[in-house]
Amino acid sequence: MRKPLVAGNWKMNGSRTSIQALIEGIISGATDLEGADIVVCPPFVFLSEVVQALAHSRIAVGAQNVAIPEQGAFTGEVSASMLKDVGCEYVIIGHSERRALYGESDEIIAEKFASALALGLTPILCVGESLEEREAGTTENVVERQLASIIQYNGIAAFSNAVIAYEPVWAIGTGKTATPHQAQEVHAFIRQLLNIQNASIAAKIRILYGGSMKSANATELLAQGDIDGGLIGGASLSRDDFIAICSAATKV
Ligand code: PEP
Repeated sequence: MRKPLVAGNWKMNGSRTSIQALIEGIISGATDLEGADIVVCPPFVFLSEVVQALAHSRIAVGAQNVAIPEQGAFTGEVSASMLKDVGCEYVIIGHSERRALYGESDEIIAEKFASALALGLTPILCVGESLEEREAGTTENVVERQLASIIQYNGIAAFSNAVIAYEPVWAIGTGKTATPHQAQEVHAFIRQLLNIQNASIAAKIRILYGGSMKSANATELLAQGDIDGGLIGGASLSRDDFIAICSAATKV
């Protein structure tokens, strides 16, 4: 039985004031939602503050990115040991915005995955196809390539402490959601790929869906057999929407 996990990716949004209010709302809304694990991923500058605000709650904190090296002359970068030091437990790796806007290749992502694991952070690895790739019928090839590079660099055992998020790029921030059937097909494919190499890891790993998940569509998506939670962008900035999704996750 996989416990559902709902992670909010706040991206580059918020201020100290708005985040304070959001956190207070999430803490109060989440008190009866023990059936799901909940993670919030604020921008780097707010991490410490959010960790402190959540210290007596069961809500975990994740970062949105991590550097490959552990320390040194890398202006603007933040290492896994720094994230660990401020109390992060998770880190999003390979988000499509990082792949597309910051040129992160499969190889870079595999190295970031390794850096996170080495410091005991749980990577939330994002994979997913663009609209062109879906229309060309290459969704499975793309997802397989993205996973293969992680396995090649880190070994399959690395997935025993990781989360995967299937995020079709065409559904991120667009309001277009994959249908439950479309999402389930890719989730089952991912689990099957892992199952070929290690059945126990495949059975245990949580595979989240991300891409315009909101309170209105969460229940149907989360009801699919291989969808174990959500990675939520826009809707995670609204306390009510985020809590409604977490609540839906506890009921499936
Ligand atoms: C995301 O960026 O990971 C995401 C799923 O965004 P949204 O929910 O806004 O589509």
